[in-house]
Amino acid sequence: MKHTIPHSQPGGAFHDMAEAVQTCVHCGFCLPTCPTYQELGQEMDTPRGRIVLMKEVLEGTLPLAQALPHVDRCLGCLACETACPSGVKYRDLISPFRDHIRKDRPRTSAEKLRRRMLLATLPHPGRFRFAARIGILTRPLHGLLPKALRPMLGLLPEKLPPAQILAPLYPAQCTRRARVALLAGCAQQVLAPEINAATIAVLTRCGVEVVIPQAQGCCGALAWHVGAGDEARAAARRNIAAFPQDVDAILTNAAGCGSGLHEYPLMLRGTPDEAAAQTFAHRVQDVSKFLDSLGIDPPPPMRSITVAYHDACHLSHAQGVRSAPRQLLQKIPGLVLKEVADADLCCGSAGTYNIDQPEIAAGLGQKKAASIAATGADYVVMGNIGCMTQITAHLRSHPRAPRVLHTMELLAMAFAGALK
Ligand code: SF4
Ligand code: SF4
Repeated sequence: MKHTIPHSQPGGAFHDMAEAVQTCVHCGFCLPTCPTYQELGQEMDTPRGRIVLMKEVLEGTLPLAQALPHVDRCLGCLACETACPSGVKYRDLISPFRDHIRKDRPRTSAEKLRRRMLLATLPHPGRFRFAARIGILTRPLHGLLPKALRPMLGLLPEKLPPAQILAPLYPAQCTRRARVALLAGCAQQVLAPEINAATIAVLTRCGVEVVIPQAQGCCGALAWHVGAGDEARAAARRNIAAFPQDVDAILTNAAGCGSGLHEYPLMLRGTPDEAAAQTFAHRVQDVSKFLDSLGIDPPPPMRSITVAYHDACHLSHAQGVRSAPRQLLQKIPGLVLKEVADADLCCGSAGTYNIDQPEIAAGLGQKKAASIAATGADYVVMGNIGCMTQITAHLRSHPRAPRVLHTMELLAMAFAGALK
């Protein structure tokens, strides 16, 4: 039966939402893979349940307030897309829906202020650094802060690393094989600038020239996932204009950002910029996929180490990148790769999810940390700063926790002979 979602003519976001709704055959194969179903065990907190709720809101048969708590609990991890045998494109529904209802969303003044503060801070490295510094300095007073802010502050490190200014260009260190442009990221530049340094070290060592477009900004994913469509579209337009044409690829080393860049056509659906967004998105690759396709020489021999690889949802489910990082790691002589149990399950890190849904985020973080610790590995590596922050925080309570690194950091250490 065709549903009666209004304005669902081809070429617009409503058409995509209607398609996603109509493709779902309610089989329930996605249920066991959904982290909120695992945590809460109720139908309305499953992909299938949320699809029905969003459909009814769009059709005008269900008040928004009844659907919102369940829609808001969705992490956007897209495990449901991987599991769905009918090819439901859940990503075409969840963020466009949140964008669509943003003006009708009931919020208290405190919620509005908190949302405004987060969107004004997190996507801007300078402002985020300032806010993070204050958060770290006032750590002893965190008990006095609003309860909703405490989980996010708990993720901050003991101290912030010094800021690193990235040059506009890093030449290849051997015969040039490719030229790429790198997205520098926002929170990552503040919390772990060493990830970009390691990424540039690995790329240039492998013969890749790296351009850092100086006019680039936040990818917009954070705004997009919380329904702030106008801010997300502004970020998309800025980056489409900022990244040069004369590069072989646009690279990211943060799965959440990569997934966001790939969603530019969705953000700009039905606007005059949609075609440019399509072209841009086709040029985007995760750095692990790019390096695996390019081919790298093995780093020098070293002692044997065990490494667990954590699949970031926005790399595995959103971008289908699973084998490339594993293949790169297996180039390291002496490295024994360990798989993490329930690898497809989200670690609970998703933008501001730690603030909005702290109990679910903590439950998922604890489960993921326990699965990682159970591998007994020396290191756990991954390709997303959000997962790194969440997993580091939840591994603190494990006595023999592996060291958390980005995939590029481990590779850079291997090339530098620092794993001997
Ligand atoms: S697996 Fe796909 S078709 Fe089946 S209920 Fe889930 S979203 Fe719908
Ligand atoms: S995106 Fe993740 S949390 Fe949301 S419905 Fe799908 S599986 Fe569940």
